[in-house]
Amino acid sequence: MNEKILNNINDVLSNNKNIILIPHSSPDADALGSCLGLYHFFKDENNVSIISPNEYTNILNFLPGSKSVIVFDNEKEKSTNLLSNADIIFTLDFNSLSRARNMSNLISKSSAKIIMIDHHENPDKYADIMISDSKMSSTCEMVYDFICLLDKNKINNKIATCLYTGIVADTGSFRYPSTTSKTLKAGSELINYGVNVTEIFEKLHNNFQFKRLKLLGAAINNFKKIDGLPVLYSSITDDDQKINSFKKGDSEGFVNFGLSVTGILCSVLFIEKKDEGLIKISFRSKGDFKVNIFASRYFSGGGHEHASGGISKLSLIETEKKFIQDIKDHIKENYE
Ligand code: 5GP
Ligand code: MN
Repeated sequence: MNEKILNNINDVLSNNKNIILIPHSSPDADALGSCLGLYHFFKDENNVSIISPNEYTNILNFLPGSKSVIVFDNEKEKSTNLLSNADIIFTLDFNSLSRARNMSNLISKSSAKIIMIDHHENPDKYADIMISDSKMSSTCEMVYDFICLLDKNKINNKIATCLYTGIVADTGSFRYPSTTSKTLKAGSELINYGVNVTEIFEKLHNNFQFKRLKLLGAAINNFKKIDGLPVLYSSITDDDQKINSFKKGDSEGFVNFGLSVTGILCSVLFIEKKDEGLIKISFRSKGDFKVNIFASRYFSGGGHEHASGGISKLSLIETEKKFIQDIKDHIKENYE
């Protein structure tokens, strides 16, 4: 972060402010961890609220402070009042207001100073202060740096637990290419505040219902290969979800199994969302294949080079057909 940004932040942040922290919709561990880390950092000297656009997976309930998260969809009036009195709004782990779904209008109309902290590519320029770096492993690592600059002495076990959780979740436990020596150093320093590394792993990865294991079985069984291309794709139908009592977050990580196959460089998962009338798509890749470019060009999405998402308004079958044609065209145009 450069000196100009730090000066701007010090101008904006003084005590007794109304601060709102907003993660992207359906927040994951990095989005919620960064909100909660800042929540614990600010809350003694300011009025701080976290407003999530919609519900988040109950897997993240173990994060300290999660009970205080307000869900916009469930408490529209309270959220609207809080937003209209806000002095400062942090948008965390996203860089396009559309990812705040039905809160985006309220954010863009607000007179509050908006501070973006995010690690996705191609940020939209809606924030007054943009802390944006697509080379960073996670928003939680960026929030750690941010807090260190403001007042490192305030870091405690709660802040450390929230930030560590987001870092391990977004780096696949310090394995993805975005992991740097700085990421490991941040993890190492956070552990010094008494973070329970094993418990966080257990809560994130070994904390599911039996039916979620069966859903994984269905997703793995549905994987298909595209002839001649290093690509696998799978789908989770509405029926798969009903049979297995699908809950938000249940399919997290399933798409990665496609990349466990030798020679496969791209794995894709389609999830039928009958109630929303769309298909949610997850893209993962290795090496030179940048799925964010593909997701944004063909499926109104985006994200990171190796982990992106998008949507389709076609049926599941039509979406799969379109995808097969699109990926053939895209590889021919860009990689042959
Ligand atoms: P996931 O597949 O886990 O839902 O998302 C993977 C990555 O892509 C995340 O970093 C997420 O922020 C990004 N992403 C997911 N869905 C969308 C989308 O609809 N639009 C954009 N721009 N990014 C997305
Ligand atoms: Mn993230």
